[in-house]
Amino acid sequence: MKESNWDVIIVGAGPTGGRAATHLSSLGHRVLMLEEHTEIGRPFQCAGLVTPKALHEVGLFDSILEEVDGARIHGPSGTLVPVGTDGKLRTYVVCRKKFDQGVVQQAMESGATLWLNSQPLSADVTEDNVSLTIDSNGEEMKLSCKLLIGCDGAHSWTRRHFKMGRPKEMMIGFQTEVLGYQGKGRWLEMYSGSEIAPGFFAWVIPSGFGSHRIGVWSTPERLNGRSVEQCYEDLIQHPLWKDRFSEIKEIARFCGPIPSGMVKKTVGNRVMLLGDAAGMAKPTTGGGIGPGFKQIKGILQPLSAAITEDNLSEKNLKKITSKHFQSMKKDQDKARALRNLLVSDVSDNDLDGHFENFSRPDVLELINEIGDIEKPVPLGLALVKKVPAFRRLAFKAGTRLMFR
Ligand SMILES: Cc1cc2nc3c(=O)[nH]c(=O)nc-3n(C[C@H](O)[C@H](O)[C@H](O)COP(=O)(O)OP(=O)(O)OC[C@H]3O[C@@H](n4cnc5c(N)ncnc54)[C@H](O)[C@@H]3O)c2cc1C
Repeated sequence: MKESNWDVIIVGAGPTGGRAATHLSSLGHRVLMLEEHTEIGRPFQCAGLVTPKALHEVGLFDSILEEVDGARIHGPSGTLVPVGTDGKLRTYVVCRKKFDQGVVQQAMESGATLWLNSQPLSADVTEDNVSLTIDSNGEEMKLSCKLLIGCDGAHSWTRRHFKMGRPKEMMIGFQTEVLGYQGKGRWLEMYSGSEIAPGFFAWVIPSGFGSHRIGVWSTPERLNGRSVEQCYEDLIQHPLWKDRFSEIKEIARFCGPIPSGMVKKTVGNRVMLLGDAAGMAKPTTGGGIGPGFKQIKGILQPLSAAITEDNLSEKNLKKITSKHFQSMKKDQDKARALRNLLVSDVSDNDLDGHFENFSRPDVLELINEIGDIEKPVPLGLALVKKVPAFRRLAFKAGTRLMFR
């Protein structure tokens, strides 16, 4: 007989759902994860970069495919800006299937329950609970819970069902897995320019056993009718870079959305959104795993108390989340404003000029000293303040940060 009454039901058993379930079940709450797929970690839509902070938090070292010391970033005309130091680890590349399965397994070891092939069909919030109708393995079932958490990704059913708004930006990412790319070991490559990745960049990431992940991302409005697949083709045929791609053999391809820009309404009566469902991916890198982990970790104790007391009104959930979520939103907004100023809203000519400046030894030193994938804002501000060539942007940066 399947249990029908839960403290917390989490829709979506990706990394955010798994992490939230681990925390909440460790604190003694009865947690059910509903996952629409028949296995965890599939389909795979990710470059697999996980920051040391996020990886160490879960300790899933067996999911690591590669360690990365830095990024070789190329301007539209080919100026190279290497960011990083040989032997100094900056980030990990993981097998997302193993990583997601590990996170969800930890949740189950903490006491959470997982139902695969299960998804909500409807949900109603009453004074006393959330009552759900779900489809589980083709059968309709009625469930109830005190709190419903949507960790159901970029196109979140929970977010749409409860009309909780939309992420500010929805980037589109396209990626292939290839053999035969000759890159520098322990370094990833990034390529820029309007032909390749308008407003953003393309990446080549070593992914273990001689394979690489080649990807491109941008926003629909910047793509202006082109598809990200076309951008990918333009990258591998680009006169400056095509030799590097001439031997590649494609073994897989993926396409997926990257929602970035926290939704207006992250909580409602007895409902909450976390991770991609809430639009938490970073506007600068598209990374969404770290932000999902950070979002739940920062509200854990008061949320757990509210579940125990069954005090889960929108008003109380807002009180619990607002400081932490608003501070994350502020960082996200600042990072987007600086990204737009320095990279996304810039012509290829100006971007080439920026790369010339980035590649100067004193600027490179500053980038390597302050540059942190987790916190791009201090670096952006330092560049604008300290590098004479960027000072003309200071006023623009100030107004964008104030009026964003
Ligand atoms: C091309 C590409 C490259 C990326 N590269 C990186 C990277 O290198 N590093 C990084 O940190 N991030 C990267 N991201 C973003 C990253 O994949 C997401 O931010 C991350 O997976 C978010 O985790 P999540 O648990 O919030 O959502 P998801 O991983 O999307 O998990 C949501 C889960 O909910 C399930 N689900 C959805 N709807 C329902 C439903 N109605 N009922 C039940 N279950 C449901 C899904 O099946 C899924 O298992 C990339 C994204 C793309 C598209």
